[in-house]
Amino acid sequence: MILRGKYVVCRVIDDDTSEIIKDGAVFQRDGQIVEIGLYMDLKARHDPDEEIGGPDFVVIPGMVNAHHHMRLTPFQLGSLDMPLEPGIFAEWSSREVDPYLDTLWCVLQMIESGITTVMHNQAMVRTPSDLDFYDSNARIVDAYEDSGMRVAFSLYNRDLHFFTSQDDETFLDSLPPFLGDRSRKGMRSRPITLDDHLSASEKLIVNKASNRTRIFISPHNVHWCSYEYLLAIKDFASRHSTGLHIHLQETAYQKMYGDEHWGKTPLAHLKDLGFLGPDLSCAHGVWLTDSDIDLLAETGTAICHNPSSNLRLNSGIAPINRLLERGVNVAIGIDEAGINDDNDILQEMRLTQKIHREPGVGVASPSSHRVLDMATRNGAKVTFFGDEAGTLEVGKRADMVLLDLERISEPYLDPDTNIVDSVVYRGRGSDAKTVIVDGEVLLRDGVHTKFDRAEIGARIRESLSGPLSPAAAGRAKFNADLKP
Ligand SMILES: [Zn+2]
Repeated sequence: MILRGKYVVCRVIDDDTSEIIKDGAVFQRDGQIVEIGLYMDLKARHDPDEEIGGPDFVVIPGMVNAHHHMRLTPFQLGSLDMPLEPGIFAEWSSREVDPYLDTLWCVLQMIESGITTVMHNQAMVRTPSDLDFYDSNARIVDAYEDSGMRVAFSLYNRDLHFFTSQDDETFLDSLPPFLGDRSRKGMRSRPITLDDHLSASEKLIVNKASNRTRIFISPHNVHWCSYEYLLAIKDFASRHSTGLHIHLQETAYQKMYGDEHWGKTPLAHLKDLGFLGPDLSCAHGVWLTDSDIDLLAETGTAICHNPSSNLRLNSGIAPINRLLERGVNVAIGIDEAGINDDNDILQEMRLTQKIHREPGVGVASPSSHRVLDMATRNGAKVTFFGDEAGTLEVGKRADMVLLDLERISEPYLDPDTNIVDSVVYRGRGSDAKTVIVDGEVLLRDGVHTKFDRAEIGARIRESLSGPLSPAAAGRAKFNADLKP
């Protein structure tokens, strides 16, 4: 197959430069990139089965959403934006959506904006039908497998502070007795254990790991896990040579927790447990200190930056300029919604570029090239697909996106504008016309090749059309009682 563009953006070189081929093309065979060069040359040398694109397109590497959870967005399920801590309660009352369909809908949206790989971080939750954590989560991985997208999938869980960031008993004692008693009952009936977490993760590795699926493991967040829990998770990752993903210092309270309990930041606590290294990626890192940034740089630990989520949940703005200055690997995630509630990675990239422009002349902030690198190569690295994807190079797998250059530049755009600036300043998810993973076309002329979008949407609508289930209604009532 030949993929042709007025420009082919192969890879980012530095803050101001990318390797770009004008009137270029990529030739891929069986999912492997065989040659990249001028379209005329490739056309003369190869006899492709298919040719996609043309002079009205720009070809870029497939993009990576480096921190994500499943589901319709919290807003779609009835929650307005609010700070993270009460927001967690709000999610408990959400309706139950079939995990396969729910994942698939989100996947379709992601593919539509040019995402070819995702870091999917999945909460372990017990539902009435959820007898086996493996089965319910395998259905989520099945949705990715069926869709053709690459995924680094991890289950997350915690063993401390189920309700807030303080000891559960202390918190429950502070509640009106009827609420405290009810909460204790719910907590103790069937707790989700470390063993549940490890055994389901192990089974996923055995049954579901493939060339497009990696299985990681994830402690939820530092202050929600005991030493023993963190060490067991680290040991599991080492034994299985797999990746670790964790939420870190997302809100000011989480940083304060470290000061109060360990006399150091949560990241420094992780360092003391031997947790840091290139196999670990941390979502958010909004409240990092200068010495935290040094620790990340020294250990090769990555940050997955989620600017929309941080704005929507009142978390703050992560110190990305400082992280980039120190050479920390920073990737970009949408964290299940994005600023327009539509999982559009190009908008997340644009927000990443604009939000770190600190006042004043001469203060560095991410260039378009840097942002593209974060959303492609850096994301591929944190999801353990760095050898296969993230750049367009001979020998790598063919994960790429054709964007509608005509729409991006209509009716006029200065011809001297660098194409990477054009994409980051003006690109939208809807400009992604063709999306290819491993040489397989998942989106062609804006239409999904494997699923009928309208049909999946109708099935979700239908499944949510009835009244709340008794369990969901109970959770909603409990949540409403507890929130004050
Ligand atoms: Zn998250």
